[in-house]
Amino acid sequence: MLTVMRESGELQKALLSLKRQGKKIGLVPTMGNLHAGHLSLIRRVQEESDIVVVSIFVNPTQFGPNEDYAAYPRTFDADVKNIESVVTKDTYIFCPIPNAMYADDFSTWVEETVLSKGLCGRTRPIHFRGVATVVAKLFNITQADVAVFGQKDAQQALVIQRMVRDLNFPIHIIVAPIVRESDGLAMSSRNKYLSPEQREVTPGIYKALRAAEQKVREHRETAPEIIVGDIQHALNAIGGDIDYVEVLDATTLTPATHFNTRVLIAIACKFGTTRLIDNILIEVK
Ligand code: AMP
Repeated sequence: MLTVMRESGELQKALLSLKRQGKKIGLVPTMGNLHAGHLSLIRRVQEESDIVVVSIFVNPTQFGPNEDYAAYPRTFDADVKNIESVVTKDTYIFCPIPNAMYADDFSTWVEETVLSKGLCGRTRPIHFRGVATVVAKLFNITQADVAVFGQKDAQQALVIQRMVRDLNFPIHIIVAPIVRESDGLAMSSRNKYLSPEQREVTPGIYKALRAAEQKVREHRETAPEIIVGDIQHALNAIGGDIDYVEVLDATTLTPATHFNTRVLIAIACKFGTTRLIDNILIEVK
């Protein structure tokens, strides 16, 4: 059964009662405009829970003043149909209105202060505070036992895992793999901002990551700077305006000096005004 809920108190009450009956609750937080990447998270959470909550909320506090909050695609009816197409469990769609999530005198924030500062945090200084705060609220509203996040937003997943550890949230976090278009472009709600010409070249982002991975596997001693240089070259060649290309320890997000640990290669790159992110995890055995 699919139930749409707009009111957090009502949802919390319903879920608390189900929890008391011993039901396991799974959460997938989203901003809507759902694509196959989101649906893979819903399928995953269904394996882990009796009751599923999919939140659809374009969270104003994670957008900077010059970002695309107002323009962010809102496609509620299509989202409901998409969710319907994959549900196997009792499912609540939680779509609160912004004023109900943030009272006029809202004044309490959750801020992770280390992992959130590099990568996207450099150009989006309030982003992860907004994300951590809304996710903490969603954890409290839903009382979820398990939540699934996408590796697509690798830094976000790490920030949430750190928040859960540091603040003792009784929840298990699962990070699910990146779902890609057939040509390799990571699925994203922002892909629809791309012009046909940009859409044509942007699979080059994943090609650059795969080429880097192959080079590392063949020459484990390759220096991270060489890999960064190769990727920058590839992104420049397809007309990308690079925000960052970084090779980092996949757990601490500190710069990697070699490829003997689990390494994250992360990219943020603009095509016109559209900023895309992608990443790859490399673990050389
Ligand atoms: P968003 O709606 O963009 O806030 O994303 C909601 C969740 O879906 C986040 O945990 C994202 O990491 C995840 N997600 C977004 N795109 C993908 C993708 N291509 N593959 C897997 N998960 C994704």
